[in-house]
Amino acid sequence: MLRNAHYNYVPTETGPGHASVYTGTTPAIHGIVANDWYDRALKKEVNCVGDDQQTPVGTTKGGKVSPARLLSTTITDELKIATQMRAKVVGISIKDRGAVLPTGHMPDGAYWYDGSTGNFITSTYYKTELPAWAQKFNQQKLPDQFLALEWKPLLPIDQYTEVSVDDSPYEWKWKGKEKATFPYKLSELRKDNGNYDLVANTPWGNTLIAEMAKAAVAGEGLGKDAITDFLTVSFSSTDRIGHGTGPNSIELADTYLRLDKTLEDFFNYLDKEVGKGNYTVFLTADHGVAEVAQYMKDKRVPAGYFRRSYVEAGLKEYLQKHFPGKDIIEKVTTEQVFINQQAFEGDPRVAGIDLMVATDLITKYLLATEGIAQVFTPTTLRQASPDEVGIRGKVVRGFHPKRCGDIAFVLEPGWYSWGGVTGSTHGSAYTYDTHIPVLFYGAGIKPGASTQFHTITDIAPTLSVLLKIKFPSGATGQPVTEILD
Ligand SMILES: [Zn+2]
Repeated sequence: MLRNAHYNYVPTETGPGHASVYTGTTPAIHGIVANDWYDRALKKEVNCVGDDQQTPVGTTKGGKVSPARLLSTTITDELKIATQMRAKVVGISIKDRGAVLPTGHMPDGAYWYDGSTGNFITSTYYKTELPAWAQKFNQQKLPDQFLALEWKPLLPIDQYTEVSVDDSPYEWKWKGKEKATFPYKLSELRKDNGNYDLVANTPWGNTLIAEMAKAAVAGEGLGKDAITDFLTVSFSSTDRIGHGTGPNSIELADTYLRLDKTLEDFFNYLDKEVGKGNYTVFLTADHGVAEVAQYMKDKRVPAGYFRRSYVEAGLKEYLQKHFPGKDIIEKVTTEQVFINQQAFEGDPRVAGIDLMVATDLITKYLLATEGIAQVFTPTTLRQASPDEVGIRGKVVRGFHPKRCGDIAFVLEPGWYSWGGVTGSTHGSAYTYDTHIPVLFYGAGIKPGASTQFHTITDIAPTLSVLLKIKFPSGATGQPVTEILD
């Protein structure tokens, strides 16, 4: 177990997280710079796994996804290459990106949960039809069984002493519930809270994933021959519940207690089907999470809510004074400013100076904005080394020049962009978002714990060493040697 493992870039979001775990590198190289980002050429927001060339398989809506935007190979790609495609690679997830990015460019299957039908689906990038085992799994309608349950704490409620009280003002309330308190009668709540999608917001979203993973092991015959196969599993209900309640709730603590039992059951299944000692597991997270900002404020700890649209409007107005009639700002996104380069065409002696002035003015305005801690100009971003320590290093490693804006900024600790005073989010360069558990277990792994510093990009190279195969193409991490047997 690694107790001091961290993400080493911003933004600490799901898409970049999954991509970095499996490629052993950061957004600057693998290109997954956010869950969604502004595409300058297309002049619109694009999703990290969005692909209009694809159509869904197993449903009619959504499902237009593929790994087309992932620029480097994954450890799963490398296993495919090393075994002349004989290794099987399968991914299971609640979110599409949690199955698409881990399994790389040539898996045998990637399946994710469709909240509108309660089925697992895929896209035409992978298959034209769901395999028989997946169809059979969907026919069981497990989500209906879970949605008939009542969610009560697993332990007597007074034993949840490491988190806050049940009736907390910092938790999001489900429709039809006056308070965010146990018990949650899912059969009554499902109608007004997303129906099948509600499963993902309960601990049974994780149970569903484990059951689908078992079905994939059996259906694809994973671990049945001498060639190593790779199964990627993303338990996303911890994230969904965490966003609603923050990290300090009984709901989230209970979800983790239940996930622990789900994992125990799944490993028992693997012991039986694949054989004890015949498989290696790694377990990590795609990001951490911030304490609820309002809770911190109420406790007199600096924190805050950053209003991006408010800053964008203020910035545009400010620039009008200096560049009347000109549209200088193309877009303000997740901690980046895209400058409208067309506003600076013409005589380069004049336009170049104007652009420098505009960059300087934007920097000054952002630095004067409450909640913004640091601003990075194009020059700093280009000149900084990818090995740099501290916040700037994290910005540089998260910055892909073709997919990011011109100016990057980071917020003060405890600040984030989020809709309300209940629930929380992640994405920052600070330790609450970067510090994640990394556990290795099983074949080839020495038991024990390490407090040495490691980055998320070390996981894939460690697997390469264990598998005796090439590192993923863009890998910048190093194998974690102290865990190797
Ligand atoms: Zn999240």
